[in-house]
Amino acid sequence: MGQRLSCTRSSREHEFFSAVQSGDVELVELCLRRDPAMFNQTTIYDRLSSLHIAAANGRLEVLSIILERSVNPDLLNRHKQTPLMLAAMHGKLACVQRLLQAGANILMFDSLHGRTCLHFAAYYGHYDCLQAILDAAHSTPVADSWGFARFVNVRDGNGATPLHLASRHKRPECVHILLDNGALVCASTGGYGCPGSTPLHLAARGGSLDCVRALLAWGADRLQRDSSGRIPFMVALKRNHGACAALLNPASAEPLVWPSPLKFISELEPEAKLLLEAALMEANKEREKNILKGTAYSLPSPLNSEDGMDDNVSEMSESELCCICFDQVCTIEVQDCGHQMCAHCTLALCCHNKPNPSSLCMSTPVCPFCRSNIARLVVVKTKAEDDSEKDAPSKIRKLRRSCNHSEGSSSFKGLTAFGSFGMMSGRGSGRRASTSEIMDKP
Ligand SMILES: [Zn+2]
Ligand SMILES: [Zn+2]
Repeated sequence: MGQRLSCTRSSREHEFFSAVQSGDVELVELCLRRDPAMFNQTTIYDRLSSLHIAAANGRLEVLSIILERSVNPDLLNRHKQTPLMLAAMHGKLACVQRLLQAGANILMFDSLHGRTCLHFAAYYGHYDCLQAILDAAHSTPVADSWGFARFVNVRDGNGATPLHLASRHKRPECVHILLDNGALVCASTGGYGCPGSTPLHLAARGGSLDCVRALLAWGADRLQRDSSGRIPFMVALKRNHGACAALLNPASAEPLVWPSPLKFISELEPEAKLLLEAALMEANKEREKNILKGTAYSLPSPLNSEDGMDDNVSEMSESELCCICFDQVCTIEVQDCGHQMCAHCTLALCCHNKPNPSSLCMSTPVCPFCRSNIARLVVVKTKAEDDSEKDAPSKIRKLRRSCNHSEGSSSFKGLTAFGSFGMMSGRGSGRRASTSEIMDKP
């Protein structure tokens, strides 16, 4: 990106921009004392303000100093990009948050592709920034003027929503967050009613199995055609993404779909939701194994994710075994009756009620034990859990990991496993080296 300093007008300006870029707070303050109007200057070529440079480089302190003086957080560079867009592009979460707090407008469009800060966060896969912007969208004037659902599905100059960009650029975390926040899974870049690419077409093109899997689990249509009349399956074949193609093949078994229209599913508490989502992804992975069996793309044995599951089970070994499958531990409680079952069985129960295509309404599932209507689903509280409430966040993280980072394409997974091992052994040998260094010293 163009945040590198192009030639500046004077050495004083150059000094100031360098100080902003490197986060030299003292020097920035000195420059501003010498010339209080300095923060209004921009670089010559890209017309970057000091606010842009601070945001793109994650210089939170400098950013705050400038924001306290300057009223407008939405200065524009040469491409009509705001500091918030640059912070989202470079994944500088603290700066994104600070700019939002200063009232930065989330609904500005740049002049290159007509993209918003949400597009940039999705494109570059900075899911923490994406989440921060979505959180802000609930409370900013945009929610009133545009509506939150419309903002999540905002289109760029090519008709692409943030979900399209995240799917195309293999950002499964962003895909997941966007779907969770109401992104339309079958949106077409062609606009309303016109043929164009859906997020599933673009995920097929990018070749991310995780993105394909998430979109399918959210009800993406394998038969929708793009402007060239191709279904996603054909796109994946053309790009040689064999495993994706196998899942996208209309002839292969349909995945379980998250039953989002059910009221008690859409109003789930976060922990129950993570449990059910993990169960959904696991159930679909079982189907995938059968689909990919015998093809060249069979998945590697899911060592990591199974470890995670075992952890959960052993953690909850005190609780009761599910009376439906006698296989998993009860983690979900039906309310108001209080009957308990495992996440897999809960999900099977809810997904079993396929929406009626003619009316698009789902019949409410009932408790399999007492036949009363399910009003709410909550996580079963075990004694151990009550004692250690502080462990809850780490458990959620673990669940999130097992649900998002389940195996990707085989080579990708191999790489990540290698990467973490490499880091661990690297750190270990580093420590060893440093001790031997100490011992070697005379
Ligand atoms: Zn069960
Ligand atoms: Zn019941």
